[in-house]
Amino acid sequence: MELNEVLRLVRKNIISLAPYSTARDEYKGALGVFLDANENPFENGYNRYPDPRQLELKGIISKFKGVAVENMFIGNGSDEAIDLCYRVFCNPGKDNAVAITPSYGMYRVAADINDVEFREVQLDGEFSFPGKEVLDLCDENTKLVFFCSPNNPSGNSFPMEQMLEFISSFKGIVVVDEAYIDFAEQPSLLTVLPKYKNLIVLQTLSKAYGLAGLRLGLAFADAEIMSIFAKVKYPYNINIAGMERAKELLARDVKSEIELLKSERKRVAAALKEMKCVQRVFPSDANFLLVRVDDARALYDALIQEQVIVRDRSRLKGCEGTLRITIGKPEENDRMLAIVKDWK
Ligand SMILES: *Cc1c(COP(=O)(O)O)cnc(C)c1O
Repeated sequence: MELNEVLRLVRKNIISLAPYSTARDEYKGALGVFLDANENPFENGYNRYPDPRQLELKGIISKFKGVAVENMFIGNGSDEAIDLCYRVFCNPGKDNAVAITPSYGMYRVAADINDVEFREVQLDGEFSFPGKEVLDLCDENTKLVFFCSPNNPSGNSFPMEQMLEFISSFKGIVVVDEAYIDFAEQPSLLTVLPKYKNLIVLQTLSKAYGLAGLRLGLAFADAEIMSIFAKVKYPYNINIAGMERAKELLARDVKSEIELLKSERKRVAAALKEMKCVQRVFPSDANFLLVRVDDARALYDALIQEQVIVRDRSRLKGCEGTLRITIGKPEENDRMLAIVKDWK
């Protein structure tokens, strides 16, 4: 899609929105006598409002993601970015969004909050990419399509060519949630972002980067879309404490942790496959495994008895009989494996 066609998808009230102008938008210098924002002048580290554009943190993320600062949005978790997709593109009570299921629950919750009709395509037993089925469910009011790759809770990635073919043929916004991309064997769609103006890629610092408690979600898209997100978001959506801690903690190299978790994923999957109560370990490109077992609820309870908490996904359509098990530290995985092995 051309950028001007993409911009036509934006709600009219949002296109014409005059954003809140902060004191810090008007004067950009770092030094000065700041009598502009009614702050308390006595320094305590947090007495000043944060940078609403988060330029310093974006600069750091830009280096390791290889994406320019103007193609980036930072939100209070990915959930803020998901909500903004609806608020920017979907007219309540009129437009709709299409997503796959089983997948991440927030796409529906955010649709419901924004009074946007939410349509779902059930994945098949192998969780394969349902490009044609999704396209069939879209109509002229479909503004957003959500894919999640690697998908939560199935764990698999969708083939890049199939996703790109979809993005080329769909006349709306395609949001691809890559929360688990750092654990994946296939490349991120960030590599092709400049070519697809209707693509929004979501990532997060909550998983591989180990910062779930700081609530920092990322969106990447064309600079025009990102500047619309910037004017719709709460002006100071990311606070100084979170940005400072993120800057410190992102200096740490997480590559070795990711490599260890990937090798643990392989080891745990192989071990689970040998156990008599395990029917199937689904292929995973993420830091968790979806496992089909003989009696998911009973095994879940047995694990809980031993203070090992996993996610019971067995009541989710398409995930019958499954548990979703996060890959932990080697000794944590061993403890889980020992319980599953001895069970029944
Ligand atoms: C964990 C997860 C996220 C991350 O959410 P945050 O709000 O950034 O912590 C996003 N998408 C999916 C599919 C997830 O599983």
